[in-house]
Amino acid sequence: MSKILITDKITPDAISVLREKHEVEEFLDWKLEELLEKIKDFDALVVRSRTKVTKELIDAGKKLRIIARAGAGIDNIDKDYAESKGIQVLNTPTANLLSVAELTLGLAIALLRHIPRADRGMRQGLWEKKKLRGSEISGKKWGIIGLGNVGRLVVGLLKGFNCDILTYDPYVSKETAVGLGARSVSLDELLRECDIISIHVPLLDSTRGLIGARELSMMKDSAVLINTSRGGIVDESALYEALRKNKIRGAALDVFENEPPGDSLLLTLENTVYTCHLGANTSDALDRVSKEVAEKLLKALEPV
Ligand code: NAD
Repeated sequence: MSKILITDKITPDAISVLREKHEVEEFLDWKLEELLEKIKDFDALVVRSRTKVTKELIDAGKKLRIIARAGAGIDNIDKDYAESKGIQVLNTPTANLLSVAELTLGLAIALLRHIPRADRGMRQGLWEKKKLRGSEISGKKWGIIGLGNVGRLVVGLLKGFNCDILTYDPYVSKETAVGLGARSVSLDELLRECDIISIHVPLLDSTRGLIGARELSMMKDSAVLINTSRGGIVDESALYEALRKNKIRGAALDVFENEPPGDSLLLTLENTVYTCHLGANTSDALDRVSKEVAEKLLKALEPV
Protein backbone atom coordinates (compact mmCIF):
# COMPACT_ATOMS: atom_id res chain seq x y z
CA MET A 1 0.00 0.00 0.00
CA SER A 2 1.37 3.41 -1.01
CA LYS A 3 0.61 6.85 0.38
CA ILE A 4 -0.99 9.31 -2.06
CA LEU A 5 -1.28 13.03 -1.41
CA ILE A 6 -3.87 15.01 -3.38
CA THR A 7 -3.28 18.77 -3.33
CA ASP A 8 -5.75 19.97 -6.00
CA LYS A 9 -9.38 18.96 -6.39
CA ILE A 10 -10.28 15.75 -8.20
CA THR A 11 -13.66 14.01 -8.00
CA PRO A 12 -14.75 11.96 -4.94
CA ASP A 13 -15.32 8.95 -7.25
CA ALA A 14 -11.69 8.97 -8.35
CA ILE A 15 -10.51 9.32 -4.75
CA SER A 16 -12.64 6.30 -3.76
CA VAL A 17 -11.03 4.25 -6.51
CA LEU A 18 -7.56 5.16 -5.19
CA ARG A 19 -8.62 4.46 -1.57
CA GLU A 20 -9.55 0.88 -2.43
CA LYS A 21 -5.85 0.12 -2.79
CA HIS A 22 -3.89 2.89 -1.12
CA GLU A 23 -3.81 5.33 1.74
CA VAL A 24 -5.01 8.67 0.38
CA GLU A 25 -4.96 12.11 1.94
CA GLU A 26 -6.71 15.09 0.40
CA PHE A 27 -4.86 18.26 1.39
CA LEU A 28 -6.42 21.15 -0.50
CA ASP A 29 -6.06 24.22 1.71
CA TRP A 30 -2.33 24.31 2.18
CA LYS A 31 0.34 26.92 2.62
CA LEU A 32 3.69 26.19 0.98
CA GLU A 33 5.54 25.63 4.28
CA GLU A 34 2.88 23.10 5.33
CA LEU A 35 3.05 21.28 2.03
CA LEU A 36 6.86 21.12 2.12
CA GLU A 37 6.57 19.44 5.51
CA LYS A 38 3.66 17.16 4.63
CA ILE A 39 5.00 15.79 1.32
CA LYS A 40 7.98 14.03 2.87
CA ASP A 41 5.87 10.99 3.86
CA PHE A 42 4.15 10.38 0.50
CA ASP A 43 4.94 8.11 -2.45
CA ALA A 44 2.70 9.88 -4.96
CA LEU A 45 1.39 13.40 -5.46
CA VAL A 46 -1.75 14.26 -7.45
CA VAL A 47 -2.10 17.83 -8.72
CA ARG A 48 -4.02 19.85 -11.27
CA SER A 49 -2.66 23.26 -12.31
CA ARG A 50 -2.66 25.16 -9.02
CA THR A 51 0.10 23.25 -7.19
CA LYS A 52 3.48 24.33 -8.52
CA VAL A 53 5.71 21.29 -8.34
CA THR A 54 9.05 23.08 -8.07
CA LYS A 55 12.56 21.76 -7.34
CA GLU A 56 11.99 22.75 -3.71
CA LEU A 57 8.81 20.67 -3.45
CA ILE A 58 10.36 17.74 -5.29
CA ASP A 59 13.39 17.81 -2.96
CA ALA A 60 11.05 17.87 0.04
CA GLY A 61 9.27 14.74 -1.26
CA LYS A 62 11.90 12.35 0.05
CA LYS A 63 9.84 9.24 -0.78
CA LEU A 64 8.15 10.61 -3.89
CA ARG A 65 7.99 8.16 -6.81
CA ILE A 66 5.18 9.56 -8.94
CA ILE A 67 3.73 12.99 -9.71
CA ALA A 68 0.35 12.69 -11.40
CA ARG A 69 -1.20 15.69 -13.13
CA ALA A 70 -4.96 15.50 -13.61
CA GLY A 71 -5.05 17.44 -16.88
CA ALA A 72 -2.92 18.04 -19.92
CA GLY A 73 -0.33 20.81 -19.48
CA ILE A 74 2.58 20.08 -17.18
CA ASP A 75 4.04 23.60 -17.18
CA ASN A 76 3.45 23.65 -13.39
CA ILE A 77 5.74 20.65 -12.87
CA ASP A 78 9.54 20.70 -13.13
CA LYS A 79 9.42 17.46 -15.10
CA ASP A 80 13.11 17.33 -16.04
CA TYR A 81 14.17 17.77 -12.44
CA ALA A 82 11.64 15.20 -11.20
CA GLU A 83 12.77 12.67 -13.79
CA SER A 84 16.43 13.34 -13.00
CA LYS A 85 15.60 12.14 -9.50
CA GLY A 86 13.84 9.02 -10.80
CA ILE A 87 10.34 10.37 -10.18
CA GLN A 88 7.80 9.47 -12.85
CA VAL A 89 5.55 12.28 -14.13
CA LEU A 90 2.24 11.29 -15.65
CA ASN A 91 -0.69 13.28 -16.99
CA THR A 92 -3.99 12.94 -18.86
CA PRO A 93 -3.21 14.68 -22.14
CA THR A 94 -6.57 14.37 -23.89
CA ALA A 95 -9.30 13.81 -21.29
CA ASN A 96 -10.36 17.46 -21.02
CA LEU A 97 -9.87 18.63 -24.58
CA LEU A 98 -13.43 18.29 -25.85
CA SER A 99 -14.33 21.07 -23.40
CA VAL A 100 -11.63 23.29 -24.92
CA ALA A 101 -12.90 22.59 -28.43
CA GLU A 102 -16.49 23.36 -27.41
CA LEU A 103 -15.42 26.63 -25.79
CA THR A 104 -13.67 27.60 -29.03
CA LEU A 105 -16.98 27.34 -30.87
CA GLY A 106 -18.79 29.03 -28.00
CA LEU A 107 -16.43 31.99 -28.13
CA ALA A 108 -16.80 32.27 -31.89
CA ILE A 109 -20.58 32.40 -31.64
CA ALA A 110 -20.48 34.77 -28.66
CA LEU A 111 -18.23 37.13 -30.63
CA LEU A 112 -19.97 36.88 -33.99
CA ARG A 113 -23.44 37.28 -32.45
CA HIS A 114 -22.41 39.90 -29.84
CA ILE A 115 -23.93 37.81 -27.06
CA PRO A 116 -21.98 39.39 -24.14
CA ARG A 117 -22.64 42.92 -25.41
CA ALA A 118 -26.36 42.27 -25.86
CA ASP A 119 -26.52 40.82 -22.36
CA ARG A 120 -24.63 43.76 -20.81
CA GLY A 121 -26.78 46.26 -22.70
CA MET A 122 -30.06 44.68 -21.64
CA ARG A 123 -29.03 44.86 -17.99
CA GLN A 124 -28.61 48.61 -18.55
CA GLY A 125 -32.07 48.87 -20.11
CA LEU A 126 -30.78 48.95 -23.70
CA TRP A 127 -32.29 47.13 -26.69
CA GLU A 128 -29.46 47.50 -29.24
CA LYS A 129 -30.88 45.30 -31.96
CA LYS A 130 -29.73 47.46 -34.89
CA LYS A 131 -26.21 47.93 -33.56
CA LEU A 132 -25.63 44.28 -32.91
CA ARG A 133 -26.12 42.65 -36.30
CA GLY A 134 -23.99 39.51 -36.31
CA SER A 135 -22.90 36.83 -38.72
CA GLU A 136 -23.17 33.07 -38.96
CA ILE A 137 -20.42 30.48 -38.78
CA SER A 138 -22.09 28.28 -41.38
CA GLY A 139 -20.52 28.33 -44.81
CA LYS A 140 -17.56 30.49 -43.68
CA LYS A 141 -13.86 29.76 -44.06
CA TRP A 142 -12.56 28.60 -40.68
CA GLY A 143 -8.79 28.46 -40.20
CA ILE A 144 -7.28 26.06 -37.66
CA ILE A 145 -3.71 26.81 -36.60
CA GLY A 146 -2.37 23.59 -35.04
CA LEU A 147 -4.11 20.36 -36.06
CA GLY A 148 -3.38 18.36 -32.90
CA ASN A 149 -5.89 16.99 -30.41
CA VAL A 150 -7.93 20.17 -29.88
CA GLY A 151 -7.65 21.29 -33.51
CA ARG A 152 -9.05 17.95 -34.66
CA LEU A 153 -11.92 18.09 -32.17
CA VAL A 154 -12.80 21.58 -33.47
CA VAL A 155 -12.81 20.21 -37.03
CA GLY A 156 -15.20 17.48 -35.86
CA LEU A 157 -17.53 19.90 -34.09
CA LEU A 158 -17.58 22.15 -37.15
CA LYS A 159 -19.01 19.38 -39.36
CA GLY A 160 -22.55 20.51 -38.67
CA PHE A 161 -21.70 24.07 -39.72
CA ASN A 162 -20.58 23.12 -43.21
CA CYS A 163 -17.54 25.39 -43.10
CA ASP A 164 -14.64 25.34 -45.54
CA ILE A 165 -11.89 24.34 -43.10
CA LEU A 166 -8.31 25.41 -43.79
CA THR A 167 -5.50 24.30 -41.54
CA TYR A 168 -1.85 25.16 -40.95
CA ASP A 169 0.31 22.65 -39.11
CA PRO A 170 3.79 21.97 -40.49
CA TYR A 171 3.95 18.66 -38.58
CA VAL A 172 0.76 17.13 -39.98
CA SER A 173 0.62 15.75 -43.52
CA LYS A 174 -1.71 17.14 -46.16
CA GLU A 175 -3.29 13.67 -46.46
CA THR A 176 -4.09 13.58 -42.73
CA ALA A 177 -5.67 17.02 -42.95
CA VAL A 178 -7.77 16.00 -45.95
CA GLY A 179 -8.78 12.77 -44.18
CA LEU A 180 -10.09 14.87 -41.30
CA GLY A 181 -12.04 17.13 -43.63
CA ALA A 182 -9.66 20.11 -43.81
CA ARG A 183 -7.37 21.62 -46.46
CA SER A 184 -3.74 22.06 -45.49
CA VAL A 185 -2.38 25.49 -46.50
CA SER A 186 0.48 27.82 -45.58
CA LEU A 187 0.09 30.11 -42.59
CA ASP A 188 -0.02 33.16 -44.89
CA GLU A 189 -2.78 31.67 -47.05
CA LEU A 190 -4.81 30.75 -43.98
CA LEU A 191 -4.44 34.26 -42.57
CA ARG A 192 -5.39 35.93 -45.86
CA GLU A 193 -8.39 33.71 -46.63
CA CYS A 194 -10.18 32.85 -43.42
CA ASP A 195 -13.17 34.53 -41.77
CA ILE A 196 -12.65 32.83 -38.41
CA ILE A 197 -9.22 31.74 -37.20
CA SER A 198 -8.68 29.62 -34.09
CA ILE A 199 -5.32 28.78 -32.52
CA HIS A 200 -4.48 25.34 -31.07
CA VAL A 201 -0.68 25.15 -30.88
CA PRO A 202 1.38 24.56 -27.73
CA LEU A 203 3.39 27.41 -26.24
CA LEU A 204 6.99 26.75 -27.30
CA ASP A 205 9.91 29.02 -28.16
CA SER A 206 8.91 28.48 -31.81
CA THR A 207 5.26 29.47 -31.28
CA ARG A 208 5.73 32.42 -28.91
CA GLY A 209 4.45 35.47 -30.80
CA LEU A 210 3.35 33.26 -33.74
CA ILE A 211 0.54 35.73 -34.34
CA GLY A 212 2.04 39.22 -34.28
CA ALA A 213 1.65 42.49 -36.18
CA ARG A 214 2.65 40.99 -39.55
CA GLU A 215 0.19 38.11 -39.27
CA LEU A 216 -2.66 40.31 -38.02
CA SER A 217 -2.06 42.73 -40.90
CA MET A 218 -2.60 39.86 -43.35
CA MET A 219 -6.01 38.96 -41.96
CA LYS A 220 -9.23 40.23 -43.55
CA ASP A 221 -10.73 43.30 -41.89
CA SER A 222 -13.87 41.25 -41.36
CA ALA A 223 -12.08 38.28 -39.75
CA VAL A 224 -12.05 37.25 -36.11
CA LEU A 225 -9.36 35.51 -34.06
CA ILE A 226 -10.04 32.99 -31.29
CA ASN A 227 -7.33 31.82 -28.90
CA THR A 228 -8.02 29.03 -26.43
CA SER A 229 -4.46 27.65 -26.53
CA ARG A 230 -1.94 29.56 -24.40
CA GLY A 231 -1.19 33.20 -23.74
CA GLY A 232 2.00 34.38 -25.43
CA ILE A 233 1.20 32.76 -28.78
CA VAL A 234 -0.64 35.93 -29.80
CA ASP A 235 1.33 39.15 -29.30
CA GLU A 236 -1.13 41.07 -27.12
CA SER A 237 0.19 44.56 -27.92
CA ALA A 238 -0.06 43.86 -31.66
CA LEU A 239 -3.55 42.42 -31.14
CA TYR A 240 -4.63 45.48 -29.18
CA GLU A 241 -3.46 47.76 -32.01
CA ALA A 242 -5.16 45.64 -34.68
CA LEU A 243 -8.44 45.66 -32.76
CA ARG A 244 -8.26 49.34 -31.85
CA LYS A 245 -7.78 50.28 -35.51
CA ASN A 246 -10.45 47.78 -36.60
CA LYS A 247 -7.82 46.02 -38.69
CA ILE A 248 -9.63 42.84 -37.72
CA ARG A 249 -13.26 42.61 -36.65
CA GLY A 250 -12.80 41.01 -33.26
CA ALA A 251 -11.04 38.58 -31.00
CA ALA A 252 -12.01 36.14 -28.29
CA LEU A 253 -9.41 35.00 -25.79
CA ASP A 254 -9.50 32.38 -23.06
CA VAL A 255 -5.78 32.65 -22.32
CA PHE A 256 -3.46 35.59 -21.66
CA GLU A 257 0.24 36.42 -21.35
CA ASN A 258 -0.43 37.21 -17.69
CA GLU A 259 -3.30 35.48 -15.95
CA PRO A 260 -5.23 37.31 -14.67
CA PRO A 261 -4.38 40.03 -17.22
CA GLY A 262 -4.60 42.88 -14.67
CA ASP A 263 -5.20 46.24 -16.32
CA SER A 264 -4.36 45.06 -19.87
CA LEU A 265 -5.48 47.53 -22.54
CA LEU A 266 -7.28 44.63 -24.24
CA LEU A 267 -9.92 44.87 -21.52
CA THR A 268 -10.87 48.37 -22.70
CA LEU A 269 -12.02 47.19 -26.14
CA GLU A 270 -15.58 46.47 -27.30
CA ASN A 271 -14.94 44.07 -30.20
CA THR A 272 -13.72 41.29 -27.93
CA VAL A 273 -14.97 38.48 -25.71
CA TYR A 274 -12.90 37.13 -22.84
CA THR A 275 -13.07 34.12 -20.56
CA CYS A 276 -10.79 33.43 -17.60
CA HIS A 277 -8.95 30.31 -18.84
CA LEU A 278 -12.17 28.32 -18.74
CA GLY A 279 -11.26 25.98 -21.62
CA ALA A 280 -11.11 22.74 -19.69
CA ASN A 281 -13.20 23.95 -16.79
CA THR A 282 -16.29 21.75 -17.04
CA SER A 283 -17.62 19.11 -14.69
CA ASP A 284 -17.48 16.61 -17.56
CA ALA A 285 -13.78 17.27 -18.15
CA LEU A 286 -13.07 17.07 -14.41
CA ASP A 287 -14.85 13.69 -14.25
CA ARG A 288 -12.81 12.36 -17.14
CA VAL A 289 -9.39 13.66 -15.99
CA SER A 290 -10.01 12.45 -12.43
CA LYS A 291 -11.02 8.99 -13.56
CA GLU A 292 -8.09 8.73 -15.97
CA VAL A 293 -5.49 10.04 -13.52
CA ALA A 294 -6.68 7.54 -10.88
CA GLU A 295 -6.45 4.65 -13.37
CA LYS A 296 -2.97 5.69 -14.53
CA LEU A 297 -1.73 6.20 -11.00
CA LEU A 298 -3.00 2.79 -9.86
CA LYS A 299 -1.22 1.18 -12.77
CA ALA A 300 2.01 3.07 -12.10
CA LEU A 301 1.93 2.06 -8.42
CA GLU A 302 1.46 -1.64 -9.21
CA PRO A 303 4.47 -3.66 -8.10
CA VAL A 304 6.61 -4.76 -11.05
P1 NAD B 1 -1.35 18.94 -29.36
O1 NAD B 1 0.08 18.81 -28.99
O2 NAD B 1 -2.19 17.72 -29.48
O3 NAD B 1 -1.46 19.72 -30.76
C1 NAD B 1 -0.71 20.84 -31.06
C2 NAD B 1 -0.50 20.89 -32.56
O4 NAD B 1 0.20 22.09 -32.86
C3 NAD B 1 0.36 19.72 -33.09
O5 NAD B 1 -0.33 19.05 -34.13
C4 NAD B 1 1.61 20.40 -33.60
O6 NAD B 1 2.12 19.77 -34.77
C5 NAD B 1 1.10 21.79 -33.92
N1 NAD B 1 2.13 22.79 -33.97
C6 NAD B 1 3.28 22.90 -33.24
N2 NAD B 1 3.97 23.99 -33.61
C7 NAD B 1 3.24 24.58 -34.60
C8 NAD B 1 3.43 25.75 -35.37
N3 NAD B 1 4.52 26.53 -35.23
N4 NAD B 1 2.48 26.07 -36.27
C9 NAD B 1 1.39 25.30 -36.42
N5 NAD B 1 1.17 24.17 -35.74
C10 NAD B 1 2.08 23.82 -34.83
O7 NAD B 1 -1.97 19.97 -28.33
P2 NAD B 1 -3.49 20.04 -27.89
O8 NAD B 1 -3.72 19.06 -26.80
O9 NAD B 1 -4.35 20.01 -29.09
O10 NAD B 1 -3.55 21.49 -27.22
C11 NAD B 1 -3.62 22.64 -28.04
C12 NAD B 1 -3.47 23.88 -27.16
O11 NAD B 1 -4.58 23.95 -26.26
C13 NAD B 1 -2.21 23.87 -26.29
O12 NAD B 1 -1.66 25.17 -26.28
C14 NAD B 1 -2.74 23.57 -24.91
O13 NAD B 1 -1.92 24.12 -23.91
C15 NAD B 1 -4.08 24.29 -24.98
N6 NAD B 1 -5.03 23.94 -23.93
C16 NAD B 1 -5.80 24.93 -23.42
C17 NAD B 1 -6.71 24.66 -22.42
C18 NAD B 1 -7.56 25.76 -21.85
O14 NAD B 1 -8.04 25.62 -20.73
N7 NAD B 1 -7.81 26.84 -22.57
C19 NAD B 1 -6.83 23.35 -21.93
C20 NAD B 1 -6.07 22.34 -22.49
C21 NAD B 1 -5.16 22.63 -23.51
